[in-house]
Amino acid sequence: MKENDVLHDEWDREHLWHPYTSTIDPLPTYKVDSAEGCIIRLADGTELIDGMSSWWCACHGYNHPRLNEAAVRQLRKMSHVMFGGFTHEPALRLGKLLLEMGPDNMHNVFFADSGSVAVEVAMKMAVQAAISRSGDHRRTNFVTIRSGYHGDTWNAMSVCDPVTGMHGAFGSALPVRYFVPQPRSRFGGSWDPADIAPLKAVIESHADEMAALILEPIVQGAGGMWFYHPEYLRQAVELCHKYDIYVIFDEIATGFWRTGRCFAWEHAGVKPDIMCVGKGLTGGYMTLSAVLTTAEVADTISRGEAGVLMHGPTFMANPLACAVACESLQLLKEQDMAARVEQLESDMRRLLAPAAELPGVSDVRVLGSIGVVETREPVNVGEFQRECVKRGVWIRPFGRNVYIMPPYVISAGQLEHLCRALIDIVAKLTGEE
Ligand code: PMP
Repeated sequence: MKENDVLHDEWDREHLWHPYTSTIDPLPTYKVDSAEGCIIRLADGTELIDGMSSWWCACHGYNHPRLNEAAVRQLRKMSHVMFGGFTHEPALRLGKLLLEMGPDNMHNVFFADSGSVAVEVAMKMAVQAAISRSGDHRRTNFVTIRSGYHGDTWNAMSVCDPVTGMHGAFGSALPVRYFVPQPRSRFGGSWDPADIAPLKAVIESHADEMAALILEPIVQGAGGMWFYHPEYLRQAVELCHKYDIYVIFDEIATGFWRTGRCFAWEHAGVKPDIMCVGKGLTGGYMTLSAVLTTAEVADTISRGEAGVLMHGPTFMANPLACAVACESLQLLKEQDMAARVEQLESDMRRLLAPAAELPGVSDVRVLGSIGVVETREPVNVGEFQRECVKRGVWIRPFGRNVYIMPPYVISAGQLEHLCRALIDIVAKLTGEE
């Protein structure tokens, strides 16, 4: 066995498809043995401080005793039972927790399998409700902002950024949506009223084709890691409601305190008609998402032609996932999360600030527990990750964004190590060691 075979499995390289990776020239993958708290342990014993929360999910860190216990307790009762005709305690408890934590206009909860499927369900809800409310079958399209990301399934892809998203690969196979420029007014900066003009123009001329506006509130994640001004949300919601267009907030990445509030819409104080949550919902234990909506949307769908929402996945409200999600939300409720994330935010601001001095860096921004170092040129992911493993950290950049959103349990020392390593690697790879 070559020394490297412990970490890089040849069979994996040959047969297993990893996300967004070529089979001919795959990015390196590192074999993980276990993970605990904020540490990911590789098969050769190397320990990495996690900067990614496994793509926004593992908010309480890995291998959490309370989440483990919740899973085992539920496993002993039943791991799954169909949701058609049955209900169960984990779904009931989770539904109540979500309605308690979400915007107060929410009334109905639909459980789905993943973030992308939640987006599909939200879009289906909007179309069914819009047609039923207006009696107009043309009300089926969507408007969104550029640089957004909403998932990898068909309709979710159609509202991802048309340039950096999936449109290049799928082109005319995707439904055609209305895109408006990304708001340029920064979060925490001054508001430029010109930012809302393109959305206003599209809505004014196409409202009669529109079911909903869909966007990621405040933080655009995988489409560009951009933090925009809350006034955009306030004006967008007002415009949509004036023209009878529903509003979908995709809180899949931003939910559960990532931005310093329980949900990102709270920064603007305007509520959506439909809201998607996922990722951190189960504390990163398993896949589960939910779509929350108002009684108006739910009942309008139920009064429509079909009389029901046309969706019902096999693993809907999986009891195992719901039980872990309840415990994860309970853990969040027991802590002063506002104070915790505020601390992470101020630490990250201080620790990432030196990156702004690097010639290869064009911007540094922090919001809540999300820190972004934007480089002038795209970063080589494979090379970056090799440097990460050498330094005992785990960061996965994309394009020109090197970003971290660590588990909330990260210690001050771990965060310092992570941020220092990030700056070192950016300096090295952008030519400034
Ligand atoms: N919406 C947003 C905002 C996301 O960040 C993601 C995942 N990166 C999704 C939807 C899709 O979620 P999933 O990968 O669980 O399908």
